[in-house]
Amino acid sequence: LATKGTKKDARPRLTVLAGPTAVGKGTVATYIREHYPEIALSVSATTRAPRPGEVEGKHYYFVTDAEFDRMIAEGELLEYATVHNAYRYGTPRGPIEESSRRGRPVLLEIDLQGARQVRDAMPDARLVFLAPPSWDELVSRLVGRGTESAEEQERRLTTAKVELASQNEFDHVVINDTVERAAESVVHLMKQL
Ligand code: 5GP
Repeated sequence: LATKGTKKDARPRLTVLAGPTAVGKGTVATYIREHYPEIALSVSATTRAPRPGEVEGKHYYFVTDAEFDRMIAEGELLEYATVHNAYRYGTPRGPIEESSRRGRPVLLEIDLQGARQVRDAMPDARLVFLAPPSWDELVSRLVGRGTESAEEQERRLTTAKVELASQNEFDHVVINDTVERAAESVVHLMKQL
């Protein structure tokens, strides 16, 4: 039993949280960051510009296209993808390896393309799909936040439909009915890893 425990502890305790547009991944991740400081939240690199209130190194590493290319070329990214046909996002490998060495659980909040890459690169990773309570609720969250044009909303909803059909590729599905309940479910799953 002791041996089994040791082996388990040596595995990277990596959990991926993915899900469709506007489902509330970011909000759930923020809740976990604030309530569970023992969980390391991976900070992605992105080529998009910071939004008001976003802090370099906390929410993202904001990089140029050239710097992103360099990170890819040097093998610094565990996964990367162009999200919503716009900007590139990627997960730096270094901090994840460092957290794994210290036995600290790591959470990645990334899109579905990235989740699949992590699954292929790290079969031990746990994949969690964050789902909306219903299709109508997802539409109203996207429209309600009002950050995208009507055309962009349409495009994201088309992608979301395909993504919702991919839930069965995941180890767990958590419904985001309330942020607190969803976040606590994700943390509960992470404690079992
Ligand atoms: P936003 O620009 O709103 O912060 O994020 C847009 C999308 O990019 C979200 O769906 C988010 O999950 C995804 N994303 C953020 N970081 C990464 C990453 O490192 N890799 C991948 N594949 N997607 C990411």
